[in-house]
Amino acid sequence: MEISESAVGRAYAAKTPGSRAFAERARGLFPSGVTHDSRYLTPYPLFITKAQGSRKWDVDGNEYVDYFGGHGSLLLGHNHPAVVEAVSEQITKGTHFGASTELEVRWAELITELVPCAERVRFTSSGTEATQLCMRIARAFTGRKKVLRFATHFHGWHDQVAFGAAADGQASIPAGIPEEIAANIVIVPPNDAEAVRAALESEEVAAVMLEPTGASFGGVPTGGEFLKTLRELTNASGSLLIFDEVISGFRVSPGGAQGHYGVTPDLSVHAKLLAGGYPGGAVVGRADVMDMLSMRGDPRWDKEARIAHYGTFNANPVSASAGIAALQIVKSTDVCEKAARSADVLRDALRDVIAEQGLNWVVYGEFSGIHIFTNRENRDVTVEDFYSGALDHTAIKAGNSPLLNHKIRLGLIVGGVDVAGWPGGWSSAVHTENDLDRTAEAFKKLLVLLKEDPALV
Ligand code: PMP
Repeated sequence: MEISESAVGRAYAAKTPGSRAFAERARGLFPSGVTHDSRYLTPYPLFITKAQGSRKWDVDGNEYVDYFGGHGSLLLGHNHPAVVEAVSEQITKGTHFGASTELEVRWAELITELVPCAERVRFTSSGTEATQLCMRIARAFTGRKKVLRFATHFHGWHDQVAFGAAADGQASIPAGIPEEIAANIVIVPPNDAEAVRAALESEEVAAVMLEPTGASFGGVPTGGEFLKTLRELTNASGSLLIFDEVISGFRVSPGGAQGHYGVTPDLSVHAKLLAGGYPGGAVVGRADVMDMLSMRGDPRWDKEARIAHYGTFNANPVSASAGIAALQIVKSTDVCEKAARSADVLRDALRDVIAEQGLNWVVYGEFSGIHIFTNRENRDVTVEDFYSGALDHTAIKAGNSPLLNHKIRLGLIVGGVDVAGWPGGWSSAVHTENDLDRTAEAFKKLLVLLKEDPALV
């Protein structure tokens, strides 16, 4: 049976005819009809026209409680008034001066105040650009070739990171990525200190890079103890430690995961919330390491040794103004805790629904992250097992069926809630009690719909 013929598929189609019409046009324009793989949905994706706070509306006028949250960039919710005001003022003054600005200085000052490792900052336009740049910096600084990554951890889509995100870390190298590039990446299982130790002993590793909360913002959790171990191992081997804080930065705490866990990497990578919901990224870190980007007035260094770095929209004034407004709020208020409290309440509410329905699913997550494990292998598993290591990354990944994940997204949309495809999402500081109640209601409705055709579960 096709998804479109299932109970959730039929309910989705009945609710979203406008999206279907746009999807037909989009299919003739974009490969698979979408502009980002995570937005792909069958029978067709949702087309959204506007958003405010914790909510967004589709082309049919349907309202949704939003946990996709701008792919994690909207801790402050949609259109936070301070961000709107800053951006509105800036676009009347100009969007690109081809010059240095006061804004970029203020933005970087806030970042260096908040992020423990940030002595220097280099802006990019996205997280992907920033992970690419930090890998080059690490190789140049150490004179070593390899970068160690962890299976399931995501770092964007450039050639050096767009493989090995599968649970076994051994997924084949996708077309278009030369094997020679992949050969310079070492992938080990997450949370496996012995594998890291062995790789650091046997290979010339320039850097160890990871999502410090674990893959997909804690979908495969990683604790502070592992981060401490990595700090010790990299100190001993002379490799750099890089935290990819594209999601966790300014969200886990004002100082990101490094601030929360008290483990300071040599470099960290930021995007999403960094620019207040606008495009932007940054590599930040130790002054001596970031100095690989500095010109010294010595032609041999400047032209041959140094890392050249460009980017038309680096630190663009609109993103800078949004970033300043957002980071000021992160710095001076309790938005990180607020979002985390909402996620906590929601995780509990979803667990209640699961218990009521007699399902073996587990809802877990830390900080503002929400993850739904649908336990297709029917393991005897509790939330604690995700954090004790009893359930490793392969078991976590094997536990969710892509088809069911998909149906969960569709079914929640039917109930007025939009989530990311993990399935799960991020709460914001502006989700209200009413949002959380509506979400639990939608979840209940979803489970009822799923029971209508259990063959597809
Ligand atoms: N690293 C992590 C941890 C991410 O979650 C993402 C984006 N989801 C990236 C890097 C890539 O960032 P961008 O989409 O801005 O290129």
